[in-house]
Amino acid sequence: MSSGTPTHCPYCALQCGMVVGRDLATGGGQVRVAPRSDVPAGAGGLCQKGWTAADLLTTADRLTTPLMRVHAGAPLEPCTWDAALDRIAAEIERLRAAYGPDAVAVFGGGGLTNEKAYQLGKFARVGLRTANIDYNGRFCMSSAAAALNRAFGMDRGLPMPITDLETADAILLVGGNVAETMPPFMRHLAAQRAGGGQLIVIDPRTTPTARRADLHLRPTPGTDLALANGLLHIAVNEGLIDETYIAARTRGFDAVRTAVNSYWPGRVERITGVPVPQLRRAVWLLAGETGETRGRSGDHTALVLTARGAEQHADGTDTVTAYINLALALGLPGLPGSGYGCLTGQGNGQGGREHGQKADQLPGYRKIDDPVARAHVAAVWDVEPAAIPGPGRSAYELLVSLGTRDGPKALLLFGSNPVVSAPHAAAVEERLDALEFLVVADFVPSETALRADVVLPTTQWAEESGTITNLEGRVLRRERAVPPPPGVRGDLAVLAALAGRLNAPGTWSGEPAEVFDELRRASAGGLADYSGITYERIAAEGGVFWPCPGEGHPGTPRPFLERFATPDGRARFTPVEHRGAVEDVCADYPLYLTTGRVLAHYQSGAQTRRVDQLNKAAPEPYVELHPDVAERLGIAAGALVRVTSRRGSALVRARPTDAIRPDTVFVPFHWAGTGRANLLTNPALDPLSRMPEFKVCAVRLEAV
Ligand code: SF4
Repeated sequence: MSSGTPTHCPYCALQCGMVVGRDLATGGGQVRVAPRSDVPAGAGGLCQKGWTAADLLTTADRLTTPLMRVHAGAPLEPCTWDAALDRIAAEIERLRAAYGPDAVAVFGGGGLTNEKAYQLGKFARVGLRTANIDYNGRFCMSSAAAALNRAFGMDRGLPMPITDLETADAILLVGGNVAETMPPFMRHLAAQRAGGGQLIVIDPRTTPTARRADLHLRPTPGTDLALANGLLHIAVNEGLIDETYIAARTRGFDAVRTAVNSYWPGRVERITGVPVPQLRRAVWLLAGETGETRGRSGDHTALVLTARGAEQHADGTDTVTAYINLALALGLPGLPGSGYGCLTGQGNGQGGREHGQKADQLPGYRKIDDPVARAHVAAVWDVEPAAIPGPGRSAYELLVSLGTRDGPKALLLFGSNPVVSAPHAAAVEERLDALEFLVVADFVPSETALRADVVLPTTQWAEESGTITNLEGRVLRRERAVPPPPGVRGDLAVLAALAGRLNAPGTWSGEPAEVFDELRRASAGGLADYSGITYERIAAEGGVFWPCPGEGHPGTPRPFLERFATPDGRARFTPVEHRGAVEDVCADYPLYLTTGRVLAHYQSGAQTRRVDQLNKAAPEPYVELHPDVAERLGIAAGALVRVTSRRGSALVRARPTDAIRPDTVFVPFHWAGTGRANLLTNPALDPLSRMPEFKVCAVRLEAV
């Protein structure tokens, strides 16, 4: 490949840089990708998902024409764009007239560009006048977001450049298997360890990430919060906390000190299964305790990082809060080289939660029930503030309300595949089928698209321009590298065309640059202020960190150095208590199930299952179980196993391994059909974030 277009990987939030171009060495000039060395997050690397991303462009079942059913039960048939858009507009008008504007719902995705997420939120509120919009990022980052907002007044996953990890003396990584989910991330951890840094991993499985750690704690699923409180108890009792920092930069520590009093090491060992010496060693490493000095010495740097393993629980917000409490007590957040961060998962998981596709949110991370925010955004949208609906249902609550008496009767879905990715997936399928009208915009016939009444064929990553915001909060450019196939349209153009048919007020553009300019104005003055970010600056500077409140502003790589984003500038401690998994194990369901990702696949697998190399690497779902459990149940390696929870059963292949605790099994969630992990998962919701409890439920196993 002699040259190409610089852009970024279509998948995860690391957003590794890649060049996309035609391989002149091959006769047909096939599209190829190569890594870029000028994108710090990816550190010049790509994982196998990134290396094979060009195969997505030529996937055999690529959608290139709109599809429509003439009536329920009829097959999906090709139709023209006008016919598809006219039908959608007519159904929306019909249902709104019959049931009111909330009868039409919208569901977005954390992979959509900032421009799409923004326009989707605007379309829901202005084009449809519905409160019912949410997105699959609710299943990914919402607990972290709620905890970050509560403690720091701002939800930026990593409030520091990722390269800060490389100089940290200690890193505590909770519930993240980056060696498989985002392998180039390991380069930063390898640099940290090469410089003498210590890595502590908390995970019930001995993952490839945990294997590289200096210390691995393996708690029982659902006990991460108790573990954090136990670590803080030790830090308090052994004089490792930073009283000066606590007094100067925080509020509320006394209540937390009292709350963690009852998490003495022996009790925490009983709850979590982590031996007391490991608990003490973790705290000492994190605090930089040498045995000679008490508490963190001035130049010791440390980071606490959480990911989905800690967050995807019905107490996920409190669990993240418990780790923030630990980091604050040790005096880490807001100091150069130290801090607290959450690792975002989806490609635009960070930007996708800032610009209005969330049920309770307006662009710029504004709250939809804040009168000042409503007035600002209404002025940009050219509507009255009162015309903007209030907060709607959260993702799972929205999905299970579909087709019910008081729920939406139609759903427009962009960039998501909830038939595979939503918890208690069978219930969600049932609700999708109860809708009067389902529209799915996608570039492949996902499992959800195949249930739709109208399917709209849209562009994918290398065929479109826009911006994405990576896990560092750095706004990056996605560049169009190849033309889309004839017949395919961008999501922005689709939304603009529908807004026109619905006589929506304001201006609507299909051009990313024009939409981004409007997004900049809508975000101005908000927490996630993009008003100073331009496409030109991103290209010239290799990305710009938000907040960036003016074109002369340099952007904000480390937003908490001087003060936190709370009214008084101080971070907030919040006391939290261990509650445990909503479903505990019992005689009928004696094992904990935890779910997650594998190296070769991404999210619902709608994309990666279509890439030959990835499919060969990981062709089918499986269950990891301890060899003792396999022997006790008479399950041989490779045998078909029925995994059953209170919600249903999944059929998967047995994979015995001592990398998992004997009380726990693991099923990855990338596959459709009878092997779906989400047929089993518990939709119990976190009271604040409305995050479902993906990471733990009770199951039993049977050889089939
Ligand atoms: Fe990088 Fe993530 Fe893409 Fe892999 S999937 S190449 S880690 S952005």
